[in-house]
Amino acid sequence: MKTRIADLVRPDLADLKPYVVKDVPHRIKMDANENPFDMPDQIRELIASEIARYPFNRYPDPVALDLRKSLAADLNVDVDQLAIGNGSDELINYIIAAFGGHNASIIFPEPTFSMYGILGKLWGSEALGVPLSSDFDIVPDEIISASKIRDRNIIFICYPNNPTGSSFSREAILDVVENSGALVVIDEAYYEFSGKTFLPLLADYENLILLRTFSKAFGLAGLRTGYMIAGSDIINEIMKVKMVYNINSFSQKVALILLKHRDEIAPYLEKILQERKRLAQQLDELDGIEPFPSDANFILFRAEPDAEAIFSKLLENGILIRNLNEPGLLQNCLRVTIGKPEENDAFLGVLRDFHE
Ligand code: PMP
Repeated sequence: MKTRIADLVRPDLADLKPYVVKDVPHRIKMDANENPFDMPDQIRELIASEIARYPFNRYPDPVALDLRKSLAADLNVDVDQLAIGNGSDELINYIIAAFGGHNASIIFPEPTFSMYGILGKLWGSEALGVPLSSDFDIVPDEIISASKIRDRNIIFICYPNNPTGSSFSREAILDVVENSGALVVIDEAYYEFSGKTFLPLLADYENLILLRTFSKAFGLAGLRTGYMIAGSDIINEIMKVKMVYNINSFSQKVALILLKHRDEIAPYLEKILQERKRLAQQLDELDGIEPFPSDANFILFRAEPDAEAIFSKLLENGILIRNLNEPGLLQNCLRVTIGKPEENDAFLGVLRDFHE
């Protein structure tokens, strides 16, 4: 008997495509909303000396207690209101594992970060995208209606939104939190660049979860560390589905060091915010380019008439950005991550040449 893998795969995942991160040759990387600045040498040296004596033969702390304590003090929440993930991606996975699954809907505005829908399908939930309005805000009534189809719903709201860059209206989000009857996850991955948060409202709404990450402002994308803040009842449910040793010792340690030394990386954040302003202004001055307001470390812009040609021209010059062009709200849209000043200049230079 010949066993065929095609007969053994889950039928509901047959049309799911692997998330492909294309390996395109480039010189300047402005496609993945990473921090362009690696950590300062003095922090790197501190990490090296701490790690020199680290017992790597032992399993890591399964509940990352030191890191959670430090975060709890910073955020003024209880330790039992925090869970740490291998990137916030993993926490999205756990939230859906614990509260989604079959007979649940995963609802998110569209366009947004693609993981909510992908992981929703993975857990056998219905993934329901609700289009944003033409000014890239959420339409709360539509989201609330979508949450009436099934009894159990998780709504993901990315704040500020990736890839559009702006923060949705707070009133609209609160409308959803109050009137959907769903678990509402506010993904604040880009919080440090926006300064806007729902943290003070966490105590008022049991159904609210906040997600944050060390991958963006803290510049630790390679170490995969994110955290969620929620009521302790929610965290208890997450603990049921969490892989025991999900965060390796090294990442726990480095995240803790970075938290303690955040003042030393604050100038990088400041530089990114200055560069965001400069890039937006200069993009705005170019014919045919329409940058959208951004609260994050990237800018979405529409490039008429031919975003594809601009994307290719940038790549020919070694500059990789994100091509989001597709029919609908993102027609001719590209997304550029804020880089170092010289990287931003190189990017602007190619765009200027293109428009001459
Ligand atoms: N949420 C949003 C909105 C993101 O853009 C990203 C990363 N691109 C993530 C979560 C995942 O971040 P992490 O590196 O913490 O898994």
